[in-house]
Amino acid sequence: MPAILAKNAGRDAGATHNMPLSDCTACPRLATFLAESRARYPGYFCRPVPAFGDDHPRLLIVGLAPGLHGANRTGRPFTGDHAGVLLYETLHAFGYASRPVSVAADDGLILSGCRISNAVKCVPPENKPETGEIKRCNAYLKEELAALPDATAILALGLVAHKAVLMALGLKLSAYPFAHDAAHVLPDGRRLHDSYHCSRYNTQTRRLTAEMFRAVFQRIQEDSTCP
Ligand code: SF4
Repeated sequence: MPAILAKNAGRDAGATHNMPLSDCTACPRLATFLAESRARYPGYFCRPVPAFGDDHPRLLIVGLAPGLHGANRTGRPFTGDHAGVLLYETLHAFGYASRPVSVAADDGLILSGCRISNAVKCVPPENKPETGEIKRCNAYLKEELAALPDATAILALGLVAHKAVLMALGLKLSAYPFAHDAAHVLPDGRRLHDSYHCSRYNTQTRRLTAEMFRAVFQRIQEDSTCP
């Protein structure tokens, strides 16, 4: 198992392909898309986006992938586009975030007790990673999960993130089916919580409301106090 190369907040998550995350080009389609984005948007981050937040979290949140004009622009998960609006507002309401809005990697926002990552670290065209890309990037997520404190809860935002977490832990989807506001007790005792993804589509269609999202976080906090 390759070593994790960097350990600070906002760090590279792992070295699955014998290289730091920031240098990874293991997915040809995504590497090409990043190169095109870099040429088109010279001021954008345009690299694999590392996890952000507390190095010793009580909660790890796993999303899908960077958005083209969000995390891919700013270099911080769920930052700079609509997908992060409800997330950071809710994290602030529950005491995890120092501010309710995340606008840029240097805006001073601090996460306490919480860390945010994605199932796929490079921006995919049309927000749709392919199965092979999810599998390839899963080794990074696996190392992130292995580095967590034992009691850390996991919140998967959407089915793709849910499946990626199970894949990283070697668990079967049939044993832990995805459902909004579900909480699964994993074999190691950790809890995997599910929520619909806080995407623009889901929030604007009210598939996911602020109340529904807050209820998920409420449950996470209540479950974390249970033995
Ligand atoms: S998606 Fe993951 S595995 Fe694929 S190139 Fe990006 S960092 Fe590497």
